Amino acid sequence: MNELPPPKPVDPINAEFWSSCQDSVLRFQRCTECDTFRHLPRYMCYKCGSFEYEWSPVSGKGSIYSWTVTHQVFHRSFDVPSVSIIVDFPEGIRMVSVMPGVKPEDMALDKEVEVIFKSLNDEFVLPVFRFAN
Ligand SMILES: [Zn+2]
Repeated sequence: MNELPPPKPVDPINAEFWSSCQDSVLRFQRCTECDTFRHLPRYMCYKCGSFEYEWSPVSGKGSIYSWTVTHQVFHRSFDVPSVSIIVDFPEGIRMVSVMPGVKPEDMALDKEVEVIFKSLNDEFVLPVFRFAN
């Protein structure tokens, strides 16, 4: 895979998510009032309305909720075919990411995956996924 472009978060709360990924630990927001996890990062809990939260580390293991295969080059950093996925986490949240180097024919719903952290350059680490062993 060519070098992926690093995300450019403009909202401070999204920057917190990317900052935590730089430690190679996947953390999601968790409401400290009702314990509900949430992703994408938000300022307020959608369930109870609280503005209180913490960044809780998770195992990074989940399953494939959905995926798509891109066969057309839309950015020179992505080899084709490129597999983008939606991961279903046991914490009740979902996350969009990519699975570098997988064959599209190996994809299947509910297949178990785990996060790995890919260094894009000396300054940025991106959470991507591989099949769990
Ligand atoms: Zn809450």
